[in-house]
Order: sequence, then C-alpha cells, then structure tokens
Amino acid sequence: MIILKSTEEIAIMREAGRIAAGALHVASALIRPGVTTRDIDEAVEAYIVKEGGRPAFKGYRGFPASVCASLNDEVVHGLPSARRRLRAGDIVSIDVGAVFEGFVGDTAWTFPVGEMGVEAEKLLRTTYRALHAGIARAVPGKRLSDIGAAVQEVLEEAGLGVVREYTGHGIGRNMHEEPMVPNYGPPGMGPLLEVGLVLAIEPMATTGDWATRLGKDGWTVSTRDHSLAAHFEHTVAILEHGPEILTWPEVGMAWT
Ligand code: MG
Repeated sequence: MIILKSTEEIAIMREAGRIAAGALHVASALIRPGVTTRDIDEAVEAYIVKEGGRPAFKGYRGFPASVCASLNDEVVHGLPSARRRLRAGDIVSIDVGAVFEGFVGDTAWTFPVGEMGVEAEKLLRTTYRALHAGIARAVPGKRLSDIGAAVQEVLEEAGLGVVREYTGHGIGRNMHEEPMVPNYGPPGMGPLLEVGLVLAIEPMATTGDWATRLGKDGWTVSTRDHSLAAHFEHTVAILEHGPEILTWPEVGMAWT
C-alpha cells in the first residue's frame, strides 16, 4: 500500500531530510586519506543526535552502524570499520538515514578521496546527473517507471551498468515503504505519481556489469566483476508544482 503524506507530515520529513543531508556534509568534511570509515560513522551519528534526530540505519534489521560506507567496487551496505582506512584514489559511498519525529530522511553520495581517475570521475558525474534526471520526472501525472527510465537512459548512454538488484523506495514513517523505485525499465508504467508521495530515488551505477554479490559479512554488496560503483540518493516529495528534494542542501562538488 502506498501511503501519501500530508503537508504537515512533509514539513516533518523536510526536517528529517535536512538532518540526513547535514550528516553527509559532516562526512564530506572528514573524507581524506587516512580516515577510517568508523571515524565517519561516529561523527555522523554524533551530528544526527545533536540535531535532535536518531540514526535510522542503526539496528535496522540488525545493521550495526549509522552509515553505510562502501568503497570502490562496493555498491551499497558496506559496514564501517576501524580497519577500513581511506586511501588516495578511492571512491567511497556514504549512505545515511535520520529519523526525526517518527519520519525518515535517506540520502547517499559518492565521494572521491583525493584526486579521482578519469573513469571514476565519469562514474560519479554521470550517476549524479542520472539522479537528477530521475528527480525531474517525479511530477504529478507521470508514472512511477518514468523515473527509472530517465535514470537508465542517462547511465546507459554513458556506457555505465545500472544495478538491478537494489532499488529506491517509498519512505515515510518507515524507511522502506511501497512502491519500489527501480532504476531501469520502460517509461509509462506503474502507479500514477500523486501529490504527497515521497520517494527515495537512488541510482546505483557501475563502470562494468550490473551484477552484484553479497559479501561474507552478510551486508556488503559488491560488483561481481569488481568494477567501480557509485550511489547517489535523495528523499523527494512530489508536490503540486513538482519535486521537492527533502534531503537538502546537497553536498557541493565540482560537477554539481
Ligand atoms: Mg534508500
């Protein structure tokens, strides 16, 4: 069942989104060679709590941390660790959720650690562009699959792989609500997009094939072919005049 949100509920979700977005800014300021993914997790958790929120991921289905930190060929759900030290040339995806007054904001960003290679830069720029192409279709009267079709078009035109096995999702009092929001498929299908629908739109792209595998830790999802992966996500409310990104302001980068 799709749960539409009232204006009042969206106002609360705007706060949840602001906290989640702020957490990515905290992560962004820390990212450099030598920092561990545990350091990032701890700083993000402290920020969320200071802002009056609660980390949405911690304890979710037993997840032990406040962020997912996924390096290089890891796509999503990487476990922060004091043993994972960022190195120059890595890319690291940070995914974070914050609960505020019972509502969840969910957002992700892939960061370069130091200088990026040409391949990584194309991956990050294009996945970010695909996210915004999807968001631009989150308009009343369009259909759900218009979002994924727009994302897929941007990624595949650039020769990138579009991850199939993980998708975006409805979001509200629960982090994962209906509908699922795939990042691929033909346009014009699925439910009509209505005012009050709130979606986490989150393209995951690779420089190779889209197939993934689950790691031995039971969480970390990596590309099967070890190609690089990127993940950008916003929580987006569909309003009368179009999409509003609730996880705002986003982290500024050279390509944004
Ligand atoms: Mg999500």
